[in-house]
Amino acid sequence: MKIHEYQGKEIFRRFGMATPRGVPSFSVDEAVKAAQSLGGPVWVVKAQIHAGGRGKGGGVKLARSIDEVRARASEILGMQLVTHQTGPAGQKVRRLLIEEGADIKKELYVGMVVDRTTQRVCLMASSEGGMDIEEVAAHTPEKIHKVFVDPVKGLTDAEADDVARKIGVPEGSVGAARAMLQGLYKAFWDTDASLAEINPLIVTGDGRIIALDAKLNFDANALFRHPEIVEMRDLDEEDPAEIEASKFDLSYISLDGNIGCLVNGAGLAMATMDTIKLYGGEPANFLDVGGGATAEKVTEAFKIMLKNPGLKAILVNIFGGIMKCDTIAEGVIAASKAVGLKVPLVVRMKGTNEDIGKKLIAESGLPIITANNMAEAAEKVVAAAKGN
Ligand code: ADP
Ligand code: MG
Repeated sequence: MKIHEYQGKEIFRRFGMATPRGVPSFSVDEAVKAAQSLGGPVWVVKAQIHAGGRGKGGGVKLARSIDEVRARASEILGMQLVTHQTGPAGQKVRRLLIEEGADIKKELYVGMVVDRTTQRVCLMASSEGGMDIEEVAAHTPEKIHKVFVDPVKGLTDAEADDVARKIGVPEGSVGAARAMLQGLYKAFWDTDASLAEINPLIVTGDGRIIALDAKLNFDANALFRHPEIVEMRDLDEEDPAEIEASKFDLSYISLDGNIGCLVNGAGLAMATMDTIKLYGGEPANFLDVGGGATAEKVTEAFKIMLKNPGLKAILVNIFGGIMKCDTIAEGVIAASKAVGLKVPLVVRMKGTNEDIGKKLIAESGLPIITANNMAEAAEKVVAAAKGN
C-alpha cells in the first residue's frame, strides 16, 4: 500500500526525523491559509499523488509571496499531472502540501528495501540526490553505497556514520545524519514498510539534515496490525478495477492490452500473459482467481474484466489441481449468462475433472471457443481479439 508524501512525513516526524514544516491542503483557500500559518518568505507548493517525478512534471513549485502561493496552488490543484511514473494519462491532483522553502546546500539520496537474498533490510545511500536513482544505478553504480542491516543489532552508529561520510555529509552534520538514518530504519521496521525513500535528503546552509521528500510503501500482508496506516489509504489514487477485485479477494492488475485473462495461480497467469504476447496479442489484465475460486468469484471476475471498454476477447486458462475443472466450467457458464457476454471467450482447461468441465461447456449452448493447450488457446484468443 502506498501513501502520500505529507503522510510519510507525519510518520517520519513520529520517529524523530527532521522534515520541513508543512500543511496538507485540499483547496486553494486552504493552501493560502496554510502558507499564512507557516509564514514566509518562501513556500513550496507540492502536488500530492502516489507517484514520483512530480518536480519534473510541474507538480512542485516555489512561491515567494502569498499571491504566488494562490497562483501556483490554483494551477496545480486539479491538474492532470504526468510524470515518468504515472503513465501517459497522468494522475489528477486532489491534494497539495504547502511547505516552508528549505535552504538546500546538498541533495542526497537514501532508500531502504527488503533484500530477499540476504533476508535483511538494505540501506542504499548516494551523494547523487534529487535525480532518478535508476539512472545513477545504471551509469555510476559505484556511487550507491549499501548496508545490509543485521536485524538483531539494527543500524549501528558506526554503520550510519560511515554511510553518511561516504555520501558527502559534512563532518559537523554526521550526528544529525545518523539520527535520520536510524530513524528511517526504525520507521521502516516498526511500520512493516516494503520500501522507504528520501530523495532528496538535504544538507541545509546551516548544516541541518532534513527529509525533503518522503516515499513509503507498506507490506499489504502486515496491514492488519497497522490500522493507523490503513486509515491513510487514498482510494482516488488506486485503479477502480483493482479496488473492486480486492473486495472479492481476487489478485487483479489492470494492463493496457485488450485480451482479458482469467487464470488460477499467479505463475500460470504470468505464463498465460507471456504466451498471449508471443502470439502477438496484449493482455488487458493480470488475474489470479486463486485456488479456491467459486462460481460467484468467477462471475465477479468476469464483471470486473468486462467493465474495461477496450476489452476485445477473454481467455480462461485453468489448471485443475485442487481446483476442479467442472467448478470453473460452471462458473464460466453462469458468469457468461449473468453478464450477457458480448466478446469472444476462449477456454482451456487441464487436470481434475477436465472431461466433465469440457462436457458442461459443450452442452451449455454458449458460443465458447475451446482449446486443448496453451499455444492453441493463445492463438485463438489473439485471432478473436483481432476480429478473425
Ligand atoms: P519528486 O521527487 O516527486 O519530484 P520532491 O519532493 O523530491 O518531488 O521535489 C522535487 C524537488 O523540488 C526537490 O528535489 C527539491 O529540489 C525541490 N523541493 C521540494 N521540496 C522543497 C522544499 N520544501 N524547499 C525547497 N525545495 C524543495
Ligand atoms: Mg523526490
